[in-house]
Order: sequence, then C-alpha cells, then structure tokens
Amino acid sequence: MSITDDLGGRPEVQAWRSVPRPAWPILRELVIHGPQSRTALARKVGLSGASLTRLTKPLVESGLIAERDIAYDPVNGRPTRPLEVVADSLRFLGVKLTADRAYAVVTNLRADVIAEDEAALTGLAPATVVAQLGEIADALLARTGPAVAAGITLGGDAHSPARLDETELVDSGQLGWERVPVRRLIGERLGIPCVVKNDVTALAYSHQWFGAARGVSDFAIVGIGAGIGYALFLHDREVRATEADLGEFGHQILDPGGPVCPAGHRGCASSYATTRAVLRAAGQGLRRSPSYPEVLRLAEAGDPVCAAVVREAAWALGMMIGNVANSTMVKTVIVAGEGGDAARVARADLERGVATRRRDHASVTILSQPHHFADWARGAAVAAIRSYIEGTD
Ligand SMILES: [Zn+2]
Repeated sequence: MSITDDLGGRPEVQAWRSVPRPAWPILRELVIHGPQSRTALARKVGLSGASLTRLTKPLVESGLIAERDIAYDPVNGRPTRPLEVVADSLRFLGVKLTADRAYAVVTNLRADVIAEDEAALTGLAPATVVAQLGEIADALLARTGPAVAAGITLGGDAHSPARLDETELVDSGQLGWERVPVRRLIGERLGIPCVVKNDVTALAYSHQWFGAARGVSDFAIVGIGAGIGYALFLHDREVRATEADLGEFGHQILDPGGPVCPAGHRGCASSYATTRAVLRAAGQGLRRSPSYPEVLRLAEAGDPVCAAVVREAAWALGMMIGNVANSTMVKTVIVAGEGGDAARVARADLERGVATRRRDHASVTILSQPHHFADWARGAAVAAIRSYIEGTD
C-alpha cells in the first residue's frame, strides 16, 4: 500500500516522496541542525551556491522548506534569509515496549514531542500487544493528525542472531515471543511503514541527531535497565552489531568473584547493574521488595544496604565505560536507563570504576540524563524519522 493512500493524499507527503536524491542531504542537515543560511548549508553539504539554489527552489515551492525572515549571515555579514525545514507538516509515532508496559509518543519531523501516552500491557500475546498498540496509536493520532511512519523498539533481553531491523521474525524472552513478525503486524495495523529497532540503538539515533551527541562523531551509549544495551558510533556511523553481540557486552565479566547473573555467570556486568540485580541485592538486605526509585532515594539518604548496592552498580558501569573507551578510543559515553540514575547518585564510584580500567579516566566525558521512558519512545520516533528521510530501515 502506498503512504499517500492512507493519508488521503496529503500534498506535503507526496512532495516528500518526490524529493530528488541529491536534495536529501540538504533536508537531513536542516532536520538535524535547524535553520541556517544558504552559505552555511552549501558548505556543510558540499555544494556550490548555485547548485544549492537550484535544489532548494522546488523544495521551497512545494512547502517542505521555508525561508525565514532576513538575518545577517555569520559567515560573510550579508543579509540572508535562512532556510528551515517545515517540521510540523509530518507526524511520527514512536513506541517503546518493555516487559509490561508500552510508552508512546508522537513527534514532528524535528523530534519535538507533541503527544505522549503510556499503558500497562493487557497481555503479552503478539496479537494482544499489536491490538493494544493500535488503540494507543489511534487515540494519540486522533489528537495530533495522522503519522507517516512508526518506530517500535524492544530491549531487555530481546534477542536474535541478526539485528532486529534485519530480521522479519523477532524473539523476545521477556515478552515470551518467538519468531513474531512485529514489523509486518504493526505496519498492517497502523497502515503506515514501521521500523523495528533495538531500543538503545534508537536512543543513540535520538542523541546523535537531536541530543547530547549532536556534532560528536565518535561516541558510545550504554543503556541499563531490564538488560544492558550498547551502541557505538564511529566517524558519524553506527557500528552495526547483532543482538547476540550486544548480549555479550552485557555479560562481560568484571569480577570473577562477584554475584551470579540469571545466565549463570559469576561477576558479569548484568550481575551488578541491571534493574533486577539492584532490586534483588537491595531486597535481600532490606528483607522486602523495594522499587528502583526507592533504592536510589534510600541510597542518597545514607541507608547502608541501598548505598552499597547502588555504589556497586555505578562501579560496574564505570568499568564497562572504561572497557569501551580503552578498546574503541571514543571519548564520549552516554549512560541511559535506570543505571544512569544510579551513576548520578554514586558518581564517585562510577569514576572509581572507570579508573579501575583506565589510567587516564578523566579524559572520558560521561553524560547522563534522568531516566524517562518517554525519551526512549522518542528514540523510537527518531528511528522512524531517520528511516523516512533517508529511505533506510
Ligand atoms: Zn551474565
């Protein structure tokens, strides 16, 4: 089915589909970096001023990009009318699925969140999840207008011998799924193209285009929650890894005398840092079942059990970051998920962990922001945006 059929032939969508290939880098640049002068834009995409004018004229005429009010060019001081992409003409749906909840956002083309929602999953059977996601999407899009593409992300222990986006059939241990054609089922339900991504990879796209890693060509991201995820970007490009390789990252041995993870390893990263590992260790000491935010709160308040557990999780994360920096030589590592919150509470222990693996620990910049699942859903929307404007999966 074509996109325009499902959206009643909205002209801006048709205009997007007819953009000539040489103009895509211009649009991509405007989407990622916002309004800019023709001079700056021509330099960034490697075009002459004349070529840029020739390529952008039809885009302005079709309403995909617009000229702003006159400003003075920072490069040559001349008056100029900066170009900007018309971001609000398109809507994208992003959904992050966890073992028990769905988090959904609708964004515009520049990943600004326009609407969001979340819900407990009513069941884990693929047909139940797809039907529920369809209802969530219908309600959100009724408020925002129809979306042109959707991104779905899975994390935790979703596994596959291939990458999630290179396989039609997805396994997920935490959802109890085996060989589920997620992309086809959700795409058919929503009636728009759908991409399925690893959740940390999608979050990395979001940081690369619209967040902390914008303008940083080499960076890594470590996501810690139900599982441990990892993504690496070198020279602005994602280093493509299979889900199996990502699983190895989360089970690297940090201390052969450490606790045992659910896969039976002693002292692997997952045995210290996952949400389950932190809750299990804190629960044993407290003799009850605390929530993750409560463990963090108690640790900050000086509770000896929770402080020790959080410090160990942060230390383990620091060692992982040290290993990443030593072997890839990236100097920027983003920490995401609940583990990022632990790292902020026990920053000194995070740094001690890095220093365990790396003499020059201060040369690595570690960035973390408070963990919100809506940010992960936004990452899923960014995967859809990226796929839409680059024509990739
Ligand atoms: Zn393990």
